[in-house]
Amino acid sequence: MPEKLTPTKRILMGPGPSDVHPEVLKAMASPLMGHLDPEFVQIMDKVKAMVQETLLTKNQLTFVVSAPGSAGMETCLVNLLEPGDECIICINGVFGGRMADIAERCGATVHKVNSEWGKVIEPSQIKSALGKCPHPKLVALVHAETSTGALQPLEEISDIVHNAGALLVVDAVTSYCGVPLKIDEWNIDAVYSGSQKCLSAPPGLSPVSFSNNAVKALESRKTKVQSWFLDLSLVKNYWSGGKRAYHHTAPVSALFALYESLRLVLEEGLEKRWARHREVHQYLANKLEPMGFRFLVEQKHRLPNLNTMFLPTGVDEAKIRSALLQQYNIEVGGGLGDFAGKLWRIGIMGESCTHNHVNMLAGALEELIR
Ligand SMILES: *Cc1c(COP(=O)(O)O)cnc(C)c1O
Repeated sequence: MPEKLTPTKRILMGPGPSDVHPEVLKAMASPLMGHLDPEFVQIMDKVKAMVQETLLTKNQLTFVVSAPGSAGMETCLVNLLEPGDECIICINGVFGGRMADIAERCGATVHKVNSEWGKVIEPSQIKSALGKCPHPKLVALVHAETSTGALQPLEEISDIVHNAGALLVVDAVTSYCGVPLKIDEWNIDAVYSGSQKCLSAPPGLSPVSFSNNAVKALESRKTKVQSWFLDLSLVKNYWSGGKRAYHHTAPVSALFALYESLRLVLEEGLEKRWARHREVHQYLANKLEPMGFRFLVEQKHRLPNLNTMFLPTGVDEAKIRSALLQQYNIEVGGGLGDFAGKLWRIGIMGESCTHNHVNMLAGALEELIR
């Protein structure tokens, strides 16, 4: 007989999942309900309204994909790209690379714009890519690159993209509910996020929103969307309130949890939440920089909620990271790609974004590094 499941309570300070509020955990333990129950339909309507409010959008086609952030990414790209389309994908870390891979699988011709990891994409790079590809269907980039800790400015690029007649697709998985993200004001046409980063809900759901122009592109497709499960012409009827039609069985308990986590974000207020992430980021910098930790990203493009930091010289990162987990139950993330073994990704997201979290980490590190 396998023993009863008793997962250890960790302190989650990596690239996600982040710690979850007790009310959110409690929501998940609510009794199940049929996914076509009129009461559950109302709950989904409220989830949709709260996603609109937290994304600062009036987009009608706003919903939650029943799968993690990568499925949100795939939803945006498979619905907007058809074989033969051209697109521009910006790559300055792992997730831009993943978008390019998906776009190629859609049969699109992908023009890649590359920046060094840890740097952002410059508007001039988009302009020169448009020189080689004057009429792309879309331009896609990552708002908060979780693999590098860089925060991408979007407003100027949005104007350039729209002047070229293209749609702007943005990965907001790690920025959503942690740093300012204004879908309507910044004219973002398709955006996807995730539940387990600054929203502090369990992993496995991806809020997504499409602008009217993105919906028009969807409606004027010549070919069927390559994926049945992610085809928005079908999924949208599942998120259409009273008129909803069966598509798949929604993850009921996960949506209960998402409801509570969204409610907690609105109760705190977006502005206050953004300010909290900035303030705790500064607190973390003040604690760790004197110990010899150094930021990868230059100050003005630093993502407050995901801190990529080189360790003090002479410190064995894997050994200390494992001791943090084993002895102190604190999880931080290791580096990806070229940064593997060289830096840490320290997440202070949502419920994990408190002075207490930073104090626990700094206290443990003082003991371990000494
Ligand atoms: C975490 C993350 C994803 C992928 O989300 P999953 O839930 O792991 O599929 C995509 N983009 C960025 C920027 C992320 O941080």
